[in-house]
Amino acid sequence: MSIRPYRDIQRRKARTVMVGSVAVGGDAPISVQTMTNSLTADAAATIEQIRRIEEAGADIVRVSCPDVESTAALKAIVAAAQIPIVADIHFHYKRAIESAEAGAACLRINPGNIGSEAKVREVIRAAKDHGCSMRIGVNAGSLEQDLLERYGEPCPEAMVESALNHARILEDNDFRDFKISVKASDVFLAVAAYQALADACDYPLHVGITEAGGLRTGTVKSSIGMGMLLWSGIGDTIRVSLSADPVEEVKVGFEMLKSLNLRHRGVNIISCPSCARQQFNVIDTVAALEARVAHITTPMSVSVIGCVVNGPGEARETDIGFTGGGAGTHQVYIAGVPHHRFKDPDIIEHLAELIERKAAEIEAAKAVS
Ligand code: SF4
Repeated sequence: MSIRPYRDIQRRKARTVMVGSVAVGGDAPISVQTMTNSLTADAAATIEQIRRIEEAGADIVRVSCPDVESTAALKAIVAAAQIPIVADIHFHYKRAIESAEAGAACLRINPGNIGSEAKVREVIRAAKDHGCSMRIGVNAGSLEQDLLERYGEPCPEAMVESALNHARILEDNDFRDFKISVKASDVFLAVAAYQALADACDYPLHVGITEAGGLRTGTVKSSIGMGMLLWSGIGDTIRVSLSADPVEEVKVGFEMLKSLNLRHRGVNIISCPSCARQQFNVIDTVAALEARVAHITTPMSVSVIGCVVNGPGEARETDIGFTGGGAGTHQVYIAGVPHHRFKDPDIIEHLAELIERKAAEIEAAKAVS
């Protein structure tokens, strides 16, 4: 029994599937993925984008392979990437085989869309030969016609049926190294589909709200839908879909997991909204501090609070606390205990140095243990 059971999340038990070196499902940490939006055929541009995605902390990255020029570039992309690559194939089985040969760690493909059984078998053989897993990706916007006719419209039952139909094709070919997604842009539909799918199988689930929108609306919509699922233990790997830089998708994904205590990465800044009582400019300080410590990956919590109303209370729960004090004399707390006061005009640099020192201490302690 944990000390704070209201914070416990019981993860759904899923089998483990490997995406290259990254385990998905089982007890593996929930992985964060995104997708490049450069032209895959332009290997240099795609590698450069993957570099930024890696720096943001992504565990896995997906690239579209719509044509032979893309799969031709894939070998160089895979070689340059430090994280596993998922090749996104829509229909063409040849692109899937080429991707497997080029070193993709996973194929995003719906076997029911490939065509003849012989082609399906060829793709599965290529996946097996090259150690590729797969993702079945059902999307409410592209459900099979027969299901739409039978159910009348995209609904959770139709999406789950579609997913299980695709899954059966792989199972019939003795292939079980796959995960499944059932995405919709409507949060109600997506959540209900994932809940039903979670009950219907033990495959790892790739969770996301598709076509969620721009940075702000997409983040809110994704956080509600994915937050609901993750909170109830559903989800083994996530992708936040935003009409924004893929790096933003990774950042939002991590923030989501951090909010639910499912992953810890980097500095978690707790800050007040500020009001007339603030003793320094909270909004500007937090914005600048976030940017200044963005390079730190060590998990750590820092509170930056405008005044004594909530400052000492928040500082008790964080590694480093900062509370605005009267006459510009502020209070710093370390591990919840008042540590020193200071009048330094450069709050950002003062806090950043404390954070960097603390990160080095945590890393050194980790290295010893
Ligand atoms: S902590 Fe102080 S400054 Fe911040 S919102 Fe509350 S009362 Fe205002």
